[in-house]
Amino acid sequence: MKLTENLKEGQAVKLIPLGGLNEIGKNLTVLEYKNDILIIDCGLSFPDDEMFGIDIVIPDFDYLEKNREKLKGMILTHGHEDHIGAIPYLLKTVDLPIYGTKLTLELVGNKLKEHGIKARLNPVKAGQTVKIGEFKVETIRTTHSIADSICLAIDTPAGVIFHTGDFKIDYTPLHGEPIDFQRLAKIGEKGVLLMLADSTNAERKGYTPSERNVGIALENIFRNCSTRILIATFSSNVHRVQKIIDTAVIFNRKVAISGRSMINVVNIAKDIGYLKIPDNVLVDINKAKSIKDSELVIITTGSQGEPMSALARMAANDHKAVQIKKGDVVILSSTPVPGNEKTVSNVVNRLFERGAEVIYSDIADIHVSGHAAEEELKLIHSLIRPKYFLPVHGEYRHLRRHASIAETLGMAKENIFILTNGEILSLKKNQVEKIKETIQCNPVFVDGLGVGDVGNIVLRDRKLLSESGLIIVVAAIDKATGTLCSGPDIISRGFVYVRESEDLIEAARKVAEDSLNRCRHEGIKDWGAMKNHVRNDLQAYIYQLTKRNPVILPIFMEV
Ligand SMILES: [Zn+2]
Ligand SMILES: [Zn+2]
Repeated sequence: MKLTENLKEGQAVKLIPLGGLNEIGKNLTVLEYKNDILIIDCGLSFPDDEMFGIDIVIPDFDYLEKNREKLKGMILTHGHEDHIGAIPYLLKTVDLPIYGTKLTLELVGNKLKEHGIKARLNPVKAGQTVKIGEFKVETIRTTHSIADSICLAIDTPAGVIFHTGDFKIDYTPLHGEPIDFQRLAKIGEKGVLLMLADSTNAERKGYTPSERNVGIALENIFRNCSTRILIATFSSNVHRVQKIIDTAVIFNRKVAISGRSMINVVNIAKDIGYLKIPDNVLVDINKAKSIKDSELVIITTGSQGEPMSALARMAANDHKAVQIKKGDVVILSSTPVPGNEKTVSNVVNRLFERGAEVIYSDIADIHVSGHAAEEELKLIHSLIRPKYFLPVHGEYRHLRRHASIAETLGMAKENIFILTNGEILSLKKNQVEKIKETIQCNPVFVDGLGVGDVGNIVLRDRKLLSESGLIIVVAAIDKATGTLCSGPDIISRGFVYVRESEDLIEAARKVAEDSLNRCRHEGIKDWGAMKNHVRNDLQAYIYQLTKRNPVILPIFMEV
């Protein structure tokens, strides 16, 4: 009797990833038990090359909006965009308290202010446990490329779920403390039903080097440099920014900060005491020219080559306060996120052209990853020893690789789940299974102020327009008889240069005209059908002649 009760559908804890699987970005995991929902992280992802004009991509909030009265709270693992970036969009339609560490919440608060949204932000300290609905969430200190990162041990009616968050194992972090291994071992000893773990670097052998290596490399560069130094890095990597400032102080250099997000994060981190900057070290970027080159460091955004970033503008000689000159040493303390290689390479080329010496991670140890490599993953698996495992935070290949690492450690294949967003795990006492039901969660595109109004059809049009351009066929037609009164005229954009292709345009005009005349003879008077005829005839003709597929747009006017 008890067992069947236990197996009732309503009694299970459901785990639903709404983002973060088969992608690195827009992490969002839902935990649901009876009338309570806990959300873990709420991030965005950046568009890929096919998403023309899209600014950012956010998870589908449909399920959360439909279950709004169940939402008991959200816990954040750390302050990176792929974990907090979509929060303002969710809070526009639902209200729930948000829990996170100090720096994480400061970054969220800053974001919400920009969107004009108020929220209930509840700071937690690593080590603290908070009760959110039916879930008891223990936060545990971890190391990553942003300060104040935590992993989570969540006590649920079905057992303990352990979520690593984004992490690496740094035994010698630059600032702050290492991971709380003792606590992790205790959690593992008590028994963990299911683990969710970061798969980003699962393909990398060995260990991710310590952040301390970056510090050593930076010192070496500073020691041998008598010119101006510019360093681009992720603004959120507060520890690294601190290291750059410390190194500047050792070598008697002043520091100027450039780029909106860098200035933002430095101010936030300084205010809450996470960045310690001695008096008289910071100088305004607009006054940096008055400082001798050998006594100046500029910390800037743009390590990913983002076109509007401060570094990209400097490289293009389009920055108000900073002009790159011969002898400048520019350090890119980052590696390009996959997909950004080309833009980063462009910026590096421009900087070299202006006479700067550019140092990037291929030629010096000035960046380390924030994610665990194979041996670190093995250590976490061995400490936590979960019964079931769900690799997260990775593309499909990363998830697969992480799964096979778990198998080499002796985990049964059937206890490992490789899921896609919207699939559901059902957790019962000592047992986890994937259920048939799924939740619809297509990525939602944000373009300017529009959220979700650009769908796949619009994107397909944008792709076609970008590839072969547009042809517009304008004709005036007598609606009663279907007689062509004037036109058709052909207008094109991005297809061919009209003045040099008059023959082609004239031939296309003729095809459209024939097409309309044929419609009249056949008694086709419906404008939709007529447009289809024109479109199909023209498409076939143009393809045969040019092997191109422009978007064809017939516009009829009634006379
Ligand atoms: Zn992260
Ligand atoms: Zn992440």
